Amino acid sequence: MSAGAPASPLDILGEVFGYNSFRGPQEAIVNHAVAGGDALVLMPTGGGKSLCYQIPAIARQQAGHGVTIVISPLIALMHDQVGALHEAGVSAAFLNSTQTQEESSALEKQLLRNELTLLYAAPERINTPRMKGLLSSLHERGLLSLFAIDEAHCVSQWGHDFRPEYRSLSLLHESFPDVPRMALTATADALTRQDMVERLKLEDAREFISSFDRPNIRYSIVEKTDPTRQLLRFIETEHAGEAGIVYCQSRKRVEEIADMLQDAGLKAMAYHAGLDASVRQQRQDRFLRDDGMIMVATIAFGMGIDKPDVRFVAHLDMPKNIEGYYQETGRAGRDGLPANAWMVYGLQDVVNQRRMIDTSEVASEEFKQVMRGKLDALLTLAEDTHCRRVSLLRYFGEDSQPCMNCDNCLNPPAVWDATDAARKMLSCIYRVQQASGISFGAGHIMDILRGKATDKVAQYAHDKLSTFGIGADLAEAQWRGVLRQLIAKNMVRVDSEAFSTLELLPDARAVLRGEVSLMLREQAPGAGRKKRSSKPTKTSVKGMAEASLNAGALERLGRLKAWRAEVAREHNLPAFVIFHDATLRAIADKAPQNLADLEGISGMGSKKLHAYGAEVIRVCTALA
Ligand code: ADP
Ligand code: ZN
Repeated sequence: MSAGAPASPLDILGEVFGYNSFRGPQEAIVNHAVAGGDALVLMPTGGGKSLCYQIPAIARQQAGHGVTIVISPLIALMHDQVGALHEAGVSAAFLNSTQTQEESSALEKQLLRNELTLLYAAPERINTPRMKGLLSSLHERGLLSLFAIDEAHCVSQWGHDFRPEYRSLSLLHESFPDVPRMALTATADALTRQDMVERLKLEDAREFISSFDRPNIRYSIVEKTDPTRQLLRFIETEHAGEAGIVYCQSRKRVEEIADMLQDAGLKAMAYHAGLDASVRQQRQDRFLRDDGMIMVATIAFGMGIDKPDVRFVAHLDMPKNIEGYYQETGRAGRDGLPANAWMVYGLQDVVNQRRMIDTSEVASEEFKQVMRGKLDALLTLAEDTHCRRVSLLRYFGEDSQPCMNCDNCLNPPAVWDATDAARKMLSCIYRVQQASGISFGAGHIMDILRGKATDKVAQYAHDKLSTFGIGADLAEAQWRGVLRQLIAKNMVRVDSEAFSTLELLPDARAVLRGEVSLMLREQAPGAGRKKRSSKPTKTSVKGMAEASLNAGALERLGRLKAWRAEVAREHNLPAFVIFHDATLRAIADKAPQNLADLEGISGMGSKKLHAYGAEVIRVCTALA
């Protein structure tokens, strides 16, 4: 950037980051922050939040306002985030507990000399006396430009990543009321939003709410029958050799699934909070750095993972709520290319999630109530027969039209009238309870309905009940579907303390009296679904890449990737930090002969052009 007149946000976007236009509300946010306003930014994962504070940080530092402090919970990722800024030619650093006394002092001196544009720090760091002292010194010198609070939903217990350290961030406003603040999050349900505003004292901040749609992500939710086989088939048919994340509920399950994928010859690793911090860091680095790696993880993994080419996120167990589901699936396809969000779920998931809420000893009754409501919303989504995206976006307060890029749109599920079946099931639960004085679990209730003469049926003489065998016409899978719905609609309760037995809730009366009808998804997997998953979809990423590049370009792309891998290794950074796949593809396609040919390629900022341009030309023009 030329010295003298301060660069405009658009200049910075182009020169530093190599992009030619802002996305969605980015420009308005940037302008507001450059002018010193407080902002609350709600944008989906992958929407482009980082630039919202990085560009104001650059502009304001050039205008003499000093450093932007970025508060982020992601200590393990700070190295890569700062590395990415260095690659773009921005002076940035992070403060963390691994640094020596000398390193910290050197950083502090740099800050006081106004030499840093961005400083990343963890929230617990902000509260230390040393940091408070440093911030005050900077403030006295007029060198405290902006506070950017990333993952701001962590301040709220209603969000899904509550971190108590975030609570102390209200101190930023109390101590430095004149320093502008920007809070950013991808979680936006009304309750969390309101809590965030109050806790961070952002009542006067301007709210910027983006559309939460991620049009390149295809949502599918299928019934869990044989999860390991289903997962393997999904990966093999749709994502062979591609990077993805598989979420499971428990550590044990994570280990099992990772082993299973490895046995099947896939590149997979396990990640959960039970592993040593050093092992976790190592695996996270490998996931970011290696091509086509699958991370099998608990939800301990993923926050802030900005790997752009994650092609799929699979849930083998149901998350706790829609916020969690959306955040986790949002880690797919940040580069805007097609990606899959795929989940299997079943009755056991419903039972497990309910139990976790009901038996929590730390949560208050009010909290449990909120969590039950959130779980119900997710169940409703899973059982939905209409466009998944419409339902998801509605949950975040947005209206939309059917998307033609989710399982329900592409392959509308058959529905059947389950009103009568639901009534049979409810009366069976009622009769059994009445006759025996105790309640029973789902398996036994279904045996009675289907007229199965099991030992337990004989023991309690349940074959004498009027409901014995009245549901023999339906398959067990259908009954499970009915039961999931009844639980989702708050008509049946799974008693978590008493061996998951079933009990009626007051809302069941409406069905028993015939006041409401129940339309359900057909449970038997439709032929269409099988057909679709037996071969890659036509929008598969590989297919797209092959179709759009000719043989020469593909060959160049291969060489560029090999070159990038070398540079990334030398710099100890993930390959995408050097250049995104999309940038390499654009270069390969253009067959550049000289530096001028590289200008204007998306992702090619001036620092990168300067540092790598000649090499890129050499790689592209070298004889194969
Ligand atoms: P978020 O933090 O909201 O999840 P990021 O800030 O990581 O998203 O941005 C997601 C991806 O989109 C990044 O790879 C980023 O470089 C890219 N990106 C952001 N803004 C733009 C833009 N205006 N033009 C092109 N690419 C962009
Ligand atoms: Zn749809």
